Amino acid sequence: AGRARADAGVTLFDPEMEEAVGRRHVLERELRHAVEREELRLLYQPKIDLGTGCVIGMEALVRWQHPELGLVSPAQFIPVAEETGVIVAIGDWVLREACRQARVWHDAGHKELVVAVNVSGRQFRVHDLTDRIRAALADAGLPPQALEVEITETAVMGDVSDAVRMLNEWHDMGVSVAIDDFGTGYSSLGYLRQLPLTTLKIDQSFVRDLPEGDTDRAVARTILQLAEVLDLKVVAEGIETPAHVDVLKGLGCHLGQGYHYARPLPPADFLAFLEAHTVEA
Ligand code: C2E
Ligand code: MG
Ligand code: MG
Ligand code: MG
Repeated sequence: AGRARADAGVTLFDPEMEEAVGRRHVLERELRHAVEREELRLLYQPKIDLGTGCVIGMEALVRWQHPELGLVSPAQFIPVAEETGVIVAIGDWVLREACRQARVWHDAGHKELVVAVNVSGRQFRVHDLTDRIRAALADAGLPPQALEVEITETAVMGDVSDAVRMLNEWHDMGVSVAIDDFGTGYSSLGYLRQLPLTTLKIDQSFVRDLPEGDTDRAVARTILQLAEVLDLKVVAEGIETPAHVDVLKGLGCHLGQGYHYARPLPPADFLAFLEAHTVEA
């Protein structure tokens, strides 16, 4: 019986699964040192005024460049960072670096730029996040009006009363708040009304199949109507074609980001893009 059980145990781990478990273990171990070893980078994707084509701000997107693992995407390492708690250190680094970089661009004359930073669920539930945001802004010398925090519906709805309190703290400070990937979660209208939000971001899954996707068009239209009622800005994510731009503009969406305009860019490339897409003062 003992042997049978042992055999059964062995069959639970096929090579593919063992490899996945091994990889996950390596990511977990290496991620603990990523910040101190300075392996993280931020790329900046321009946010565009669809009417003028001008840059209104940028979203900071983190990258992990590991000497042996190579470039690891956030889709892979953010979930691991969340589960292990390393997200707190990573999130802090992202916040500080994004504020520092935004200040550099403000000093170069681009004072209109708002930098958006993603905050994930676990990071959101760390209770001193407001203090960390305040400290990052102060140390960078960046006005709070130049920072937007992007957070998902799921993170907010986890503990609504807590979310209301935190978002109010940010609002009072002057920091903007965007709901990311909007339409993919389960936010209730009643709760949305209670939150001091600035922006809804239409998830890229609803943009991808425009103009043919009738359902997606209806979803986009509904989000825009909701935003009008709640007096919020709307940013469309994942704009890849001129047709996407046309449909969104037709629906009354004025802001967006996506490969059609620019991929997430290293700071020097972002600055070059910015200088080519700025309104003459
Ligand atoms: P997100 O915040 O919704 O970011 C948008 C993602 O869509 C980014 O992927 C961006 O590179 C990608 N994207 C932008 N334009 C297009 C387009 O036209 N087409 C397509 N197909 N994709 C486009 P990325 O950089 O791989 O980030 C993935 C997710 O990882 C982010 O989704 C966000 O949830 C998370 N993430 C990224 N950076 C950070 C960070 O600093 N902190 C935290 N907590 N999460 C982050
Ligand atoms: Mg985002
Ligand atoms: Mg998104
Ligand atoms: Mg997303």
